[in-house]
Amino acid sequence: ESLRWTVGVDVPAVAGMGVDEICTPALVVDLTAFEANVRAMKGFAAAHGMALRAHAKTHKSADIALIQMVEGGARGVCCQKVSEAEALVAGGVRDVLVSNQVVDARRVDRLAALAQRARVAVCVDDADAIGPLSAAAARHRVMLEVLVEIDVGNGRCGVAPGAPAVELARRVANAPALRFVGLQAYQGAAQHIYGHDARRAAIAASVALVRETVAAITETGMRCPVVSGGGTGTWPFEAESGVYTELQCGSYIFMDADYRRVREADGRGLPAFAHSLFVLTSVMSRARPGHAVCDAGLKVLSVDSGLPTVFDRDDVTYAVASDEHGTLVDAEDRLRLNDRLWLVPGHCDPTCNLHDWYVAVRDGVVEALWPVTARGKAW
Ligand code: PLP
Ligand code: MN
Repeated sequence: ESLRWTVGVDVPAVAGMGVDEICTPALVVDLTAFEANVRAMKGFAAAHGMALRAHAKTHKSADIALIQMVEGGARGVCCQKVSEAEALVAGGVRDVLVSNQVVDARRVDRLAALAQRARVAVCVDDADAIGPLSAAAARHRVMLEVLVEIDVGNGRCGVAPGAPAVELARRVANAPALRFVGLQAYQGAAQHIYGHDARRAAIAASVALVRETVAAITETGMRCPVVSGGGTGTWPFEAESGVYTELQCGSYIFMDADYRRVREADGRGLPAFAHSLFVLTSVMSRARPGHAVCDAGLKVLSVDSGLPTVFDRDDVTYAVASDEHGTLVDAEDRLRLNDRLWLVPGHCDPTCNLHDWYVAVRDGVVEALWPVTARGKAW
């Protein structure tokens, strides 16, 4: 028996193949564009004197996290979930911030255990979360680093800025096995606001709340060395604020179709990242004049931020996503059976979680296969 993996059964491709041989639908990373994005963000962060802690929920890949850390200027990564952090640490990542509060007792225990193998930090926005975290850290003989998460306009998690945040920081600092290291102040709702001025104004409001909170914390004699936040849509504003110290951008490595619209609507030039993530699809039917059907639907594409765009073609549009099919408008009937299209997903993060593998390509040739290491790790 052969130990080789079969393309189209176990894997979508193998290294050395031409892109025309990749079995579709497949999640493909164009390495030239991806590496340019990684380098660009490294340069931007360095130019602003900011640390970078790239958000790994975007890709859930140990390979990509390590590229970001080894070559991309990142001091570590953010994870959204404990199980995601565990998968990446098992893959060699040694510095993770779980950018959420963790309260489930089993998860708290696993988080503390993880801190024996990597540098681990976590967020807190509720005094009741502190005792169990500290007890678990003590049980596993580790210190956990803690950021107090403040709500700077996102309206999701986060304690109120100012006095409530100071009180929480004080309680963290007094917990035996926790170390208060600063604030998480991520304004997620601002990332996709269309229009430069509106997005800038949203972050100006966040910055004012952060500034006031840092001042109130340091007035008590505590130090607040880390202020972490910012995403692909707003990072220039956090970077120039003078109060944020660390950027959490995630999507910059891939640049999905929705972030492209944000950039185009910006008008003043949000720094350019290139599309590097694609769902490669093939035409499987063209029975109806003016239309064609491809093999990429909802099971390989997330459409919550809009349908995919078709890269490098303006004669074809992706019009309807069903479970396993994409219906394309092909007004001039140009498409033929087995023709390939490079779709740019509307939203990169949930799209990646639908796949087992990244097919990494360069100049038309498959260079590597990367597993989506933490696929499905939502605990
Ligand atoms: N930080 C946190 C806490 C997030 O939840 C996210 C994404 O939602 C990010 C950073 C990264 O944002 P983006 O992918 O827009 O760069
Ligand atoms: Mn996203």
